[in-house]
Amino acid sequence: MDYSLTFQIEGLAIRGRLVRLGPALESILLPHDYPGPVAEIMAETVTLAATLGSALKYDGVFGLQTQGDGPVSLMVADVTSTGAMRGYARYDDVRIKLLDNNTGAPVPRLLGAGHMAFSVEQGTHTERYQGISELDGATLADCAHHYFRNSEQLESAIWLGADMGKNKSAKGALAGAIMIQRMPQSGKDTEDEEDGWRRAVAILSSLRRDELLSNDLSAEDLLYRLYNEDGVRIFEKHKLFHQCRCSEEKVINTIKSFPLEEITDDDGSAHVTCEFCKQVYAFSANELKSIFDT
Ligand SMILES: [Zn+2]
Repeated sequence: MDYSLTFQIEGLAIRGRLVRLGPALESILLPHDYPGPVAEIMAETVTLAATLGSALKYDGVFGLQTQGDGPVSLMVADVTSTGAMRGYARYDDVRIKLLDNNTGAPVPRLLGAGHMAFSVEQGTHTERYQGISELDGATLADCAHHYFRNSEQLESAIWLGADMGKNKSAKGALAGAIMIQRMPQSGKDTEDEEDGWRRAVAILSSLRRDELLSNDLSAEDLLYRLYNEDGVRIFEKHKLFHQCRCSEEKVINTIKSFPLEEITDDDGSAHVTCEFCKQVYAFSANELKSIFDT
C-alpha cells in the first residue's frame, strides 16, 4: 500500500496508472476526526490527486480542489513529485448530521453545485497551469471524466474507490484508483484502436472494489488479471507518503500580513493551526513583538 505505478497495455496504445493508499491515507485523515461521509469523499479526493499528480515530470506540486454549496464546502489535496501528500476538508457539521442515512450520489449530496480545480506548480520558471471543471456527476470519478472530456487531455478513464474500514471512520482506511489513457498516433488502423480502447474501458469498469483494495492481490497480479490478454508491462513503483509542507517560517510570513491585533488572544499570544496537518504554532507576546518589529 501507499504507492503509485505506471503501466502500459502492450497490444493497445494505452498507458495507465495505479494508486493504492492505506496507512498514509489514514495518517492524512485521522487528525481531523471527520464524520464518515466526509472522510470517505476526502479519501477519494486524496487518491484522485495522487493519481493525476503522479504524471508530474519535474519537481513540483499538483493540487486538486473542490468548492461547492453542499455540506462539504471545500476540499484541498496536493501531492509533490517526491510523493508527499496532504489534504483537508471544510464542512458544516450540522448539515452533515442532517443528511439521511441513504447512500445517494455522493457529489450532489455532499459537495453540491460548484467546481473542481487542478493546479501545477513547477519551480519559479514554469507557469502555474490551472484547469477548472464543474462538479458534474454522481461521483468524483464522474466529475473527473467530465473534466477529461471537456479539456484537451488525452482520452482517459478512471476507476476510483475507497473503503473506510469497519467503523466508517478513517481507521484502517484503504483507497485506490486505476486510470487509463489512450496514447495518440500508434500507427495502427483506427477502427482497431477504437475497439481496443473500448475493450480496455469495459475491462476497467468490471473491476471490483475489493479487488482494487485487496491486500492479498499485488498490483502486478491485479493488472495481469485485467489485461493479460493484451499483455501488460509495469514500470517503476513510486512510494507515496503523508507529509505536510507547513513550517514556522511560512506561518510567520503569513501572520505578518495581518494586523497584530487581529491574530492575538487576550493575553497577547497567538496560536496558528495548520489546516492540513493540525499542527499548532504558538507565539508568545514577546515573540510576536520581535516578529512584527523586524
Ligand atoms: Zn501542516
